[in-house]
Amino acid sequence: MILQGATLVLPTGADESGWVRIEGDRIVEIGSRANGRIGATGKADEADEVDPAADARSERVSLTGGWLVPGFIDMHCHGGDGASFAAADPEQLERAANFHLRHGTTTVLASLVTNPLDSLLAQLDAVAEHSRSDGPILGAHLEGPYLSHARCGAQNPDFLLEPDLEHFGRLVQAADGTCRMMTLAPELPGALKLIDAVRQSGMIAAVGHTDATYEQAVEAFERGAAVATHLFNGMRGVHHREPGPVLAALDSGAACEVINDGVHVHPAVLRLVADRDPGQLLLITDAIDAAGVGDGRYLLGGQSVRVHNGQARLDNGSLAGSVLTMDQAFRRAVRETGLAVIDAVAAASTNPARVLGLSQDRGAIRVGLRADLVHLDADFRPVAVMRGGQWITTG
Ligand SMILES: [Zn+2]
Repeated sequence: MILQGATLVLPTGADESGWVRIEGDRIVEIGSRANGRIGATGKADEADEVDPAADARSERVSLTGGWLVPGFIDMHCHGGDGASFAAADPEQLERAANFHLRHGTTTVLASLVTNPLDSLLAQLDAVAEHSRSDGPILGAHLEGPYLSHARCGAQNPDFLLEPDLEHFGRLVQAADGTCRMMTLAPELPGALKLIDAVRQSGMIAAVGHTDATYEQAVEAFERGAAVATHLFNGMRGVHHREPGPVLAALDSGAACEVINDGVHVHPAVLRLVADRDPGQLLLITDAIDAAGVGDGRYLLGGQSVRVHNGQARLDNGSLAGSVLTMDQAFRRAVRETGLAVIDAVAAASTNPARVLGLSQDRGAIRVGLRADLVHLDADFRPVAVMRGGQWITTG
């Protein structure tokens, strides 16, 4: 199949007259009416003549304008369409993943908030089972339970713990290699040793829900923590005499998650992170099961959440995740913050792919990568989604 007629957003820039050939689940060729064909190696100087036989075999699909971008990779998402990744229920996992897939998320980490050990073990087991099916759920993100009481946000304070390697070992065992990331507060006793253990287990250590000082957070990033969990939210704020985890993350070159829903951070704050280094920015949703459903009462980690006017809050006013989808996060980044489309694509796909170690498989429109694609209209609203070369029914 050859997709043409939309502006391709390639790692090297946007190409209005580009086309992409897909065979099976892979991008096998990229070309441009302006620059000729880019061969299977992806290098323009190895361009060869169009093979008429191959062209004849390929169905041509005209996308009639708009943008073609790589599928979104959401590293922080709790659910959607009334379903929760923490339900330990295959149907709910499927439902939430499919909801976000229709909004362009072709890869997602199922984020699990703090809960008692037995609940977390069951949840990790369910996510592990599901992530073996090669669906959008890549694996889990444990958001807790070793987090700061002072910055717990919507995490249930009753279940927060200090780092405990024996306890952690049980989580690792239940995840069976499918937990990709753990958010922890590095100022807690034993947290630096925990960062070592997290990394030895093949997971990404992420700093979040933390009251760490600048120095404590820098130490965590030097120890190998690579991500800041929803930068600005659930952490000590920026003060000119105590710049806290935010500047520590930016200075350390950590990848910085931002919930770009217009509620958690101001558009100008997103610009601040992107201006620093567009390669550091990760657009995430932090969506809860209420995403795509509407106003009402929901449960998160055993706590009641009220969704009203696009905001999810505990009764004490704390923000409790979002009702965001990645297409909206992307569109807002371009429309409200004024990010270049190529930088928004990096933040929504290429950067998270790199952080997850998936750059050789997804996260860009590049020869050899999986055909995970989102067709957006000229106003950056999703028209069609493809995952692994297959169109997904949207709407
Ligand atoms: Zn979260």
